[in-house]
Amino acid sequence: LNHVEILGVPFLKSTKNHFLENEIVPAIKSDEKRFIITANPEIVMHAYNDESYKTIMNQADYVIADGIGIIIASKIKKNPLPERIPGFELMNDLLIFANKEKLKVYFFGGKEKVLNHSVENIRNKFSDLKVVGSHHGYVDLDDEEVINQVMDARPDIVLVALGCPKQEEWIDQNKDKLQKGILMGVGGSFDVWAG
Ligand code: UDP
Repeated sequence: LNHVEILGVPFLKSTKNHFLENEIVPAIKSDEKRFIITANPEIVMHAYNDESYKTIMNQADYVIADGIGIIIASKIKKNPLPERIPGFELMNDLLIFANKEKLKVYFFGGKEKVLNHSVENIRNKFSDLKVVGSHHGYVDLDDEEVINQVMDARPDIVLVALGCPKQEEWIDQNKDKLQKGILMGVGGSFDVWAG
């Protein structure tokens, strides 16, 4: 895979559609596990100042350029990334695919009410995807309940909305316990879906 490194963070050099078609869809079809981080300049600066977060970013399968500032930085490095990939759009494309293939999705994060509204709205729009569980995001990072639920549900996709860096820390800490699944931090996306 082609990367562009910005302040020690390896950004995937790909368009959204190419990434989905050539990386994510095949991984889901063969029950593999993938960890996606969508990062903006703020997150890169956070990694720059926090060695452990930077390590997590380097261990993820994909760091996606979510933010025009990342694209500009890649141009300055004379190794331009082809396009910005907004995390919200990537999540929605995953939901479209999940709906088409009747996949299992787990929703983790947000305030209880926000989460419930957003899951309800997603269910209404994508009636063929299977919501195999959801849990609000106000739990301790070491809490075992959520990961146990996820392990039992065996979702194809796990959307984690705890904000950065907590969502990536949770995925990094727990991903070894899962056999498969696309794991992605989605920040404030549930808030948007809740309306
Ligand atoms: N959130 C959560 N648990 C926490 C902190 C935040 O579930 O311990 C949720 C919060 O309710 C919101 C989401 O994480 O729905 C994203 O938060 P924020 O907008 O602060 O993160 P960003 O998208 O800026 O990374």
